[in-house]
Formats: sequence, C-alpha cells, structure tokens
Amino acid sequence: MRVVILGGGYAGLICALRLAQRTRGQVAITLVSASPWFVDRIRLHERAAGAELVKRGLAEMVAGKGITLKIGRVTRIDPRGEVLLGDERLSFEQLVVALGSQVDVDAVPGVREHAFTLDAASVGALAERLPAIAARKGRLVVIGGGLTGIEGASELAETHPGLQVTLLSSGALGGELSEAGRAHLRRSLSRLGVTVEQAQVRRLQAGSVELGERSLPFDACLWAGGFIVPEVVRQSGLRVNERGQALVDPFLRALGHENIRVIGDAASVVEPPSFMPMGCKTAMPTGAYVAESLAQLSRGQGSRPFDYLNLAYCISLGRRDGLVQLYREDGSPMRWVFSGRMGAWLKEAICRGVVGTLAAERMGLSFCTWRKTGRKLSPEVPQQGRLAA
Ligand SMILES: Cc1cc2nc3c(=O)[nH]c(=O)nc-3n(C[C@H](O)[C@H](O)[C@H](O)COP(=O)(O)OP(=O)(O)OC[C@H]3O[C@@H](n4cnc5c(N)ncnc54)[C@H](O)[C@@H]3O)c2cc1C
Repeated sequence: MRVVILGGGYAGLICALRLAQRTRGQVAITLVSASPWFVDRIRLHERAAGAELVKRGLAEMVAGKGITLKIGRVTRIDPRGEVLLGDERLSFEQLVVALGSQVDVDAVPGVREHAFTLDAASVGALAERLPAIAARKGRLVVIGGGLTGIEGASELAETHPGLQVTLLSSGALGGELSEAGRAHLRRSLSRLGVTVEQAQVRRLQAGSVELGERSLPFDACLWAGGFIVPEVVRQSGLRVNERGQALVDPFLRALGHENIRVIGDAASVVEPPSFMPMGCKTAMPTGAYVAESLAQLSRGQGSRPFDYLNLAYCISLGRRDGLVQLYREDGSPMRWVFSGRMGAWLKEAICRGVVGTLAAERMGLSFCTWRKTGRKLSPEVPQQGRLAA
C-alpha cells in the first residue's frame, strides 16, 4: 500500500510515525511538508513576544522510521490518485490530508496588508517590532476575542508592560467558559492592563482600525480573526465547509472518496456532526486514529469509527497565569476552573506533553489518548472485503 501524508504538523507527523510503527515496512509512507521544520504552533504567541522556540527538523523527527520525507508545497490534489508539488508528481493509493490551517487574512479588507498574524511567517517580524513600540508606550491592537486573540494579547502585554494593548472582539469574551472562567479572564486581562472592547471591525488601514462610526489608531495590529484551511483542499474538488475544511465521515474519509482521509484542522466531521474544535488536542487523536485505521486496512480489517469528546480548554494568560476549563459530557462547562499559577503550570505541562507525545511516538510508545463519547456507530467495512463481496 502506498500512503502519502500531506502536512508535517501535529496530525500528519503523529500519523506517519504511528503508521510506520504499526506496519514496519509493509506500507510505503511518504510525508510531505512545505516546511522542513516542525512548527509548534501552540507556542507562536510566545515567539511573537520574543521567546526563542526550540527548532525541530522534520528529517530528524522521522529519521530511521522508514518514512520518506518530501519537502515541497502541495499545489494540486487529484483525488483519482495523484498529488502535485509544482512539477513533481506523487501517486498514492491512500491519501491523508493533514494540511492544517492558517490565519484568515482575507476576512476583512486591509488585514493582509496592515496586520501581523500568529503564523510562523509573521511572528518573528512582530517580535522585532514590539520592543521599540513598547519603549515609546505605543499602541497594540489585537483583533479577535477567541482563544488565540486572548493568549496573544495577554502574552504581549505581560512581556511588554509599556505597550497599550487593546483587545477587540465582535462578541462577548470567553463565551465557552463558565462564569468563574469568564471572571478570571476579566481579572487577568485587567491586571495585565489590556483594554477589552466589543466592536465590529470594518477595515484596516495603515495605522488604524475602522470600526463603523469611529477608528482606533495603532502602532502595530495583530489579527487573530479565525483560521481557514489552505485553498488547495477546496481546489481539489473535495466537499468543504465555509472555512475550507473537508467534510468527512465517522472514519475521517472525505465524503465520496474512500481512499482519502482528512485529519486535524483540515477536517470537519459531518456524519454524524461532531464537535471537534480546531486544535492540536483534536489533530493528534485524528492522526493517531487514521494511522491505526490504515494499518488495519493494510491487513484487510475494518476499523471502528472515530470518537472524540472535548475535555477542556487550556488558555495561557502570559507565563504566570492560565486557565483550564473542563467540560461535562453534554458539552457544558464545569463550574470551577484551574486558574492562576496552577492554570499556567497545567498549560505548560500540556504544551510539553504535546511534543513529548511526538517524541514518544518516534520511540514506538503510543501515549496519545483522548476522551470518547462512547456512542455506538457501525464499524467500517474494509475496502478489500467490499470488493470481494
Ligand atoms: C498561537 C496559537 C496557539 C494555539 N494554542 C492551542 C492550544 O493551546 N491548544 C490547541 O489544541 N490548539 C492550539 N492552537 C491550534 C493548533 O495549533 C492547531 O489546531 C494545530 O496546529 C492543527 O494541527 P494540524 O496538524 O492539523 O495542522 P498544522 O499544525 O497547521 O500543520 C499543517 C502542516 O501542513 C503543512 N502545509 C500546509 N500547507 C501546505 C502545502 N500546500 N503543501 C505542503 N505542506 C503544507 C505545514 O507546513 C504543516 O507542516 C493554537 C494555535 C495558535 C496559532
């Protein structure tokens, strides 16, 4: 079986390592990534604040595992069995799409030209720019009241106490949290001197944000207005939603394409609809699951459907404060939260655990586990079985 995995992020990497471990040379695995580096995206707000992140090369992370690594940008996916990296063609029998997401810079006019983002290509430039702005008590506007906007605003305000930080959100902050969680969030942002405003952003211009009737000046603007999936997924003809996520069945197969699995941020489970927020906490389980399914398929076996239940949101609020909100099975937040130093410690432990899990996977140890709903869905009929029937 020839398996091509597109994307060397959390989902693609764990998938490649686990599949190599389970099939031990019986399956030809090619991992494709646009970048030769593993990008630990969950720490990019720390990089924006000036931290130097550990550099991990993908070649080193898959060395000796029998995985062929190809560094190149996927320019086209032909679901009939071919992937193009510019002029180069790669054929596949089974394809795993793990192309992740990126900040949506076209959601509002002017963002692409005038804002920084928490993407790998932008955080270094923001980190260079901020110290001088902070030294003259300049203004940073962070747009987006989701978890990335909150983490970004807190981290940058804590590192640069001179900065005047405003966090703009179109809705109420922390809608997914309990009252205790929201109260802690408000206290933390206020302690860090972050001004929170609810407003709809119309457009960005050089040095100002237009908000309907008024505008807000800035020296730097960080756009955290949501993620979309790389356009190449939509262009492949797979069915996608408004964020460009491929629609997948309970076995994470692209609808109508039994030989294409989609994992991580690039996938949205629609049959039956499942709540799977974009996150490395969902990306790693989907990658591990698909590796197991493909290993089973290579042995002519079917697999059980993917089952995931959101356990928690873990939010950093600078280096000394954090918030961990747990959820009940029905999706409602528990009343109490871990916060303050304990929250920061837990969040840091989770971030370390993510790269630790990948390192363990390379050593053949499968530590990636997740909470399940336990709902009953029919198991998969293996393709070979179907053909034989
Ligand atoms: C600042 C920040 C903080 C975050 N904090 C958390 C958190 O605390 N908890 C949490 O669960 N999630 C968090 N997230 C979200 C998390 O990072 C993503 O959900 C996660 O990275 C998704 O993993 P993935 O493997 O699907 O995709 P990615 O990690 O995005 O990997 C995608 C891979 O595809 C490659 N690629 C993309 N396009 C192409 C192409 N055309 N050709 C070839 N290769 C390509 C990329 O190079 C990369 O290797 C955070 C994100 C940010 C930005």
